[in-house]
Amino acid sequence: MLTLTGPTSTALPLPALPAAVLPWAMTHDQAAWDLRTEFDSFEGGRFVAGLARVRELATLLEALGSSLEPSLARAAALEPEADAAALDACFRSLGFGLEASTLLSDLSVYTNCVSSIDGTDAEARQFRGILASLSARLEKSRAALDLLLALASEAFTAAVLEGPEGRPHAFLVGQGRKYRDRLLPLAVENTVTTLSTDGFQAWGTLYDSITGTATCLLRPPPLAGTEGSLPAGERRIGLAEAASLWRDPDPALRQAGYEAQAQTFSLHRESLAAILNSLAGWRLAEYELRSATAPLHFLDPALAQNRMARRTFDAMMAVVDESRELGREALRLQARLMGVPRLACWDILAPCPVAGGKAGAEARNAEYSFAEGLELVRGAYAAIDPAMGDFVLEMRDTRRIEARVLSTKRPGAYCTRFAGSRRAYVFQTYRGSLADVSTLAHELGHAYHGTLLAGLPLPETHYPMTLAETASTFAETALGDYLENQAADPATRLSLAWSDAQDAATFLVNIPARLAFEQRLYGLRAEKPLGAEALGELMRSTWEEYYGDSLRNYDEHFWMSKLHFYKTGVSFYNFPYTFGYLFSLGVYARRQALGAGFHAAYAALLRDTGRMEVEDLAQRHLGVDLSRPDFWRGSVEILRAKVGRFAHLVATAGLTS
Ligand SMILES: [Zn+2]
Repeated sequence: MLTLTGPTSTALPLPALPAAVLPWAMTHDQAAWDLRTEFDSFEGGRFVAGLARVRELATLLEALGSSLEPSLARAAALEPEADAAALDACFRSLGFGLEASTLLSDLSVYTNCVSSIDGTDAEARQFRGILASLSARLEKSRAALDLLLALASEAFTAAVLEGPEGRPHAFLVGQGRKYRDRLLPLAVENTVTTLSTDGFQAWGTLYDSITGTATCLLRPPPLAGTEGSLPAGERRIGLAEAASLWRDPDPALRQAGYEAQAQTFSLHRESLAAILNSLAGWRLAEYELRSATAPLHFLDPALAQNRMARRTFDAMMAVVDESRELGREALRLQARLMGVPRLACWDILAPCPVAGGKAGAEARNAEYSFAEGLELVRGAYAAIDPAMGDFVLEMRDTRRIEARVLSTKRPGAYCTRFAGSRRAYVFQTYRGSLADVSTLAHELGHAYHGTLLAGLPLPETHYPMTLAETASTFAETALGDYLENQAADPATRLSLAWSDAQDAATFLVNIPARLAFEQRLYGLRAEKPLGAEALGELMRSTWEEYYGDSLRNYDEHFWMSKLHFYKTGVSFYNFPYTFGYLFSLGVYARRQALGAGFHAAYAALLRDTGRMEVEDLAQRHLGVDLSRPDFWRGSVEILRAKVGRFAHLVATAGLTS
């Protein structure tokens, strides 16, 4: 039973609690999610029956897929009346396919939720494997149907999409048809998929395995102010832990984290260079196969995945490039507040140095109890619309937020949705810092987005990466403004402005540098493989071009440490972040213009994120043309105002401290 009615505070500033009274005794049980609404356990009837049904459906779908194969050869000539059997097979495949993917998604989400709470849960690990191979089976069984729907005659496709089973798939089928020239014959598609398991995918697995198991030697420097932050002497830590030190308030520890990482990466540089070359090489070879009608550019698949036109990409990146100096200015201001001439590369993720040092960080960590944090988020949401505020309470009351501090919990935060019930759940480790409150607002933003999609057919709810962060970034911005309007204390203000400055540097400098590096890598790799030396030099020169003199050194290991370059599911997983951030700022800016009508327009926009291309979505709901620079310049101006506010606070902090 949920009794999370602890102290709710509307008057800021909130008192900073001393570290000794961390509020866990009070909220530990209350901040736990309850998944029993979805599944009792792995042994429970629902899970067991669900798994059995997916297996049954997979067999059915495999048979249906085979029955469609002969029609593929004459796809363009198919007619709804003459080919009634094929039409019926399409209906049944779509119907059973949706049932299977809904069930499988529910089983996988549940399994993932359980292992997030306890990474050592053996049952969860076992089911992960079982569900992954079922997922591969389902995907394979769909190949013939997908190809047929992309290649079939207009009349046949229209007949499929007019049926009740077909209608919800109209947008996705339309997307498939748009790129039909890129498809290969079924046998070749199947060969590519089969070979990629131990080829392309295996390179990604190898990267995970090297970076997941490699350790590095941390040599904490014996500097003043670091006492107590580490056990005395050196110790071996994982690469992930070393990377997490970049967020430590202690600058010496951040540097020690960087140096520890650097040493280990230099041991593995040749293997990692081989992986990066193979991933890019595989993709380029596959794109060449798909270039029968016109050359397929290496950016095209990423743009298609993001439902975004090249002209939108060009307009956005032109504005981002012309605004680079604003990102650098943010870094210079951060250096001033930190009291150093220039930031080092390991300082770019550092927390706001207002209180400084570990003791300060601990005091800040205890700032907001879970109930207080939740109340802040509720207030910020309600300031947009009362319904949004109520949504936060509903998430709490239906126990769909997991916020406890547990040693077995997976790091990080996420929001997940059950496809069957359409309910969203939020996962995080809430320690009470302002950053944790912001993460809570962010993840609840995803959950709110999910709730708005709940009434739509499932195939219309799969939004691209470019739009995935709209609601979450929006929620973070709303929280920042709410705290600002609540006349937060100077330290909180500075902390909020610090993270705005960090955003400016991330989205205008860091992410564009990642994109430039990856574009150059693909361009060069088309000619020949690049050795570790060349990759390091390419990264260094790219950082130099983007960061210029705003940093005192560059991260030459970035090509090895940034997981995004090694993801196999997506390529160029960088510009969608910049798109998402700037798009969300642009949406937020419509608040003033639309006044009372804003929330309805915002909700309508979110509802269409899974069934429109980004340009159409922006045109319909915001009345803007994303392929023109104006929209993007508007968002950069908002960011410029934020950096200006930070500059003002930095100047004032200098006077009063
Ligand atoms: Zn997110």
